[in-house]
Amino acid sequence: MPDDKAVSCPKCHVKMERVKVERLATDRCHKCGGLWLDQGELDALLSTRGGAKQAIATLDAGPAVEGSRARHVVSRVECPRDKSRLITIVDRKQPHIQFEACTSCGGTFLDAGELKDLSERTLRERLATLLP
Ligand SMILES: [Zn+2]
Ligand SMILES: [Zn+2]
Repeated sequence: MPDDKAVSCPKCHVKMERVKVERLATDRCHKCGGLWLDQGELDALLSTRGGAKQAIATLDAGPAVEGSRARHVVSRVECPRDKSRLITIVDRKQPHIQFEACTSCGGTFLDAGELKDLSERTLRERLATLLP
């Protein structure tokens, strides 16, 4: 597990606040609503049985702050833990979902609203596989 040190928002450079949900402690930016999830936390969150929807509703401050996305595209975004450059991940099935990930520590940064998008898609897909 990564250390408990508070991280700064990779986009706004302000200290993120700890948000505890289920058994996870994630970091959220009070300025842009973005979420930092350490490696494994995103999967853990999306696979939380029953509680996922509620957990996500608690965490995700979406919709995204007006104009923030476009501005962020051009700026260099660094991992708040190890200062590696974050890469942008695009969901191939849902190209409007883009989030940043760190290839060194496996952390992910989601803009406000993205977690909801991601989880709804995931839940729908899971449901689809269950139905005949
Ligand atoms: Zn921020
Ligand atoms: Zn990192």
